[in-house]
Amino acid sequence: MTTLNSTTDLQVFQPIQLGPLLLPNRILMGSMHTGLEEAKDGFNALAQFYGERAKGGAGLIVTGGISPNRRGVLKPGGAKLTARRQIRKHRIITDAVHANGGKICLQILHGGRYSYHPFNVAPSSIKTAINRFKPSGLSMRGVKKTVRQYAKCAAIAKEAGYDGIEIMGSEGYLINQFLVTATNKRKDQYGGSFENRMRFPIEIIRCIRERVGAEFAIIFRLSMLDLIQEGSSWDEIQSLAQALEREGVDAINTGIGWHEARIPTIATLVPRGGFAFVTKKLMGHVGIPLITTNRFNTIDACEKALQSGCADMVSMARPFLADPEIVNKSKTKPNSVNTCIGCNQACLDHIFQNKIATCLVNPRASHESKWPLQAKATKARSVAVVGSGPAGLSAAIEAARLGHKVTLFESAAEIGGQFNMAKRIPGKDEFHETLRYFDFMLTHFNVNLQLNTEADVNSLLNFDHIMLATGVKPRAWNIAGSETAEVLSYIDVLKGNVEPGKRVAIIGAGGIGFDVAEYLTHTKHPGFFEEWGIDQSLSSRGGLHRPERMKSPRSIHVFQRSAGKVGGKLGKTTGWIHRLQLKNKGVITHSGVQYLAFENGKLDFIESGETHSLAFDHVVVCAGQISFAPLHSQLEAKGATVERIGGALDARKLDAQRAIREGLEAAYSISDWK
Ligand code: NAP
Ligand code: SF4
Repeated sequence: MTTLNSTTDLQVFQPIQLGPLLLPNRILMGSMHTGLEEAKDGFNALAQFYGERAKGGAGLIVTGGISPNRRGVLKPGGAKLTARRQIRKHRIITDAVHANGGKICLQILHGGRYSYHPFNVAPSSIKTAINRFKPSGLSMRGVKKTVRQYAKCAAIAKEAGYDGIEIMGSEGYLINQFLVTATNKRKDQYGGSFENRMRFPIEIIRCIRERVGAEFAIIFRLSMLDLIQEGSSWDEIQSLAQALEREGVDAINTGIGWHEARIPTIATLVPRGGFAFVTKKLMGHVGIPLITTNRFNTIDACEKALQSGCADMVSMARPFLADPEIVNKSKTKPNSVNTCIGCNQACLDHIFQNKIATCLVNPRASHESKWPLQAKATKARSVAVVGSGPAGLSAAIEAARLGHKVTLFESAAEIGGQFNMAKRIPGKDEFHETLRYFDFMLTHFNVNLQLNTEADVNSLLNFDHIMLATGVKPRAWNIAGSETAEVLSYIDVLKGNVEPGKRVAIIGAGGIGFDVAEYLTHTKHPGFFEEWGIDQSLSSRGGLHRPERMKSPRSIHVFQRSAGKVGGKLGKTTGWIHRLQLKNKGVITHSGVQYLAFENGKLDFIESGETHSLAFDHVVVCAGQISFAPLHSQLEAKGATVERIGGALDARKLDAQRAIREGLEAAYSISDWK
């Protein structure tokens, strides 16, 4: 667990001048699309969302990306700012932020060929693998018009009360597409030489500055590491940064990796603040503040980057979903910070499912008015929570926050339930942070924690309200031979109770099957950058070099009965990483399988209509879960007020996100609150 620094002398808490804005600290809340931008009544919710984060100490907030025209929206109906009549709703946001002492910039983002609709445009008509819609190449007139639309959007933003704008020039969106030869094959003055390719962003900034004047901040998010073939060279990046400064940009934010790059840039396995070295290379080559970014999730990590001269400011986006008060709390009560674990499950994965982005560890995010933090129960009750996995922990602290008198029973010697297994998976150590947070909050809200205690029916009957969060137990695998000693439960493997042999079959390819495969194939790591082929010298175009593959110490086969891609149901934004990691380590996958028997060390199964027999030292069963709530019927029979939450209620499609949210919901449903 991290012990955060609580001193306010840190560099991160020192003021900084960003163009016309004097910021109180060096933390930028980075741009994040929440889905509220397009939702009914979304601007009121956004105002509350940003207002809370301004109050929580963000030095400067950047909104989610808003398109300057119809063609640049990321999806049909996507947010755009193109007319003065839209000012009124943006005012709700800027007023809320200013009322809470904050400052806010609008991010202007044109998706280019990433825009997911048939009217998308790009410098050249080249389709990307991550979008089924091929873009039209912009005509010269189209380019000039787009430049003017950026400037108009910025001028409207200024009228709407924004303190500045951020121009999204990275992550592979339109401006980035102009900059590199991979996507810009134009023959006119916007293509060919780098001078021509950078003309588009330069004209945008020039045109914006002319319209908005000097008293309006302009930040440019510059792609400093494309992570694609034929990406920018470092010389090009540096010359563009210097040219942008000359045109009146007030600060440069860092962009890492195009969305189509098959290299993780923000997932939990990326080392904290690991890409700060990229921004550092530009330090001293421009006179305006540089902002570094990607996988910063603690103020400690931000401070380290600033102290080692990597940047003048640090941008964090998801950590503000996890805890709107991350900045203020880090000054006074650092252990009360709810830390982002980089899972993407409730933020980015939601956006890809057209749902409102929220946070696995903080389901209040984007729903601030539904479960107000300051609410108090009108009648305090005595509440028993049984089980201290994610659902039980969330229920206990939220019920106690509301003013109930809470006792939390846990049969094990430590809190955490399934989190204690998750934290053992290589690359998932951030779960320690969530446990640190819950642990602190239990003490903070005076929850009576009873470890090593099996709750029994009679003692539970003394409480006004009982919540059973007793979780799940593994689903049995029933085939001939599945009772033999070589067939192991994932729990025994992850707890280290048994050491599987060299040849292992994993039954089930859900989140846990993949976690177990990762655990069993883990070996001495060459380092994140080496494993993924990232050129830390930044001497090659796009920043790519040959990846160093890790060799698994075991031969692993992963099986699933359903047809289709193995692990296809893993999260949209991280599933590809897990699948690629295992593929790179030589894990063999089988789908559409029918299990026949495991006898004499051989697994017999049918795949593609043929019978196979493969020898394994061990089989690890990861075949999903069933609910575990043994006390429920007895308590109901005695007339107790009892409810089940999390896996104890329903093990299907259970994950930590649902468990934590159900704990929160249950706490607010016990009694009236105001
Ligand atoms: P899961 O995702 O439901 O996967 C269960 C696997 O077992 C499936 O691949 C399923 O595939 C197989 N299966 C189901 N019934 C079976 C049976 N009777 N015999 C043999 N195989 C069977 O469950 P999980 O892996 O236990 O994960 C539990 C929850 O934790 C999930 O919601 C998961 O999302 C979450 N989790 C998430 C992560 C993450 O990194 N995001 C990591 C760990 C866990 P077939 O039916 O096709 O055989
Ligand atoms: Fe961070 Fe996961 Fe929450 Fe997203 S859902 S903000 S990645 S903890």
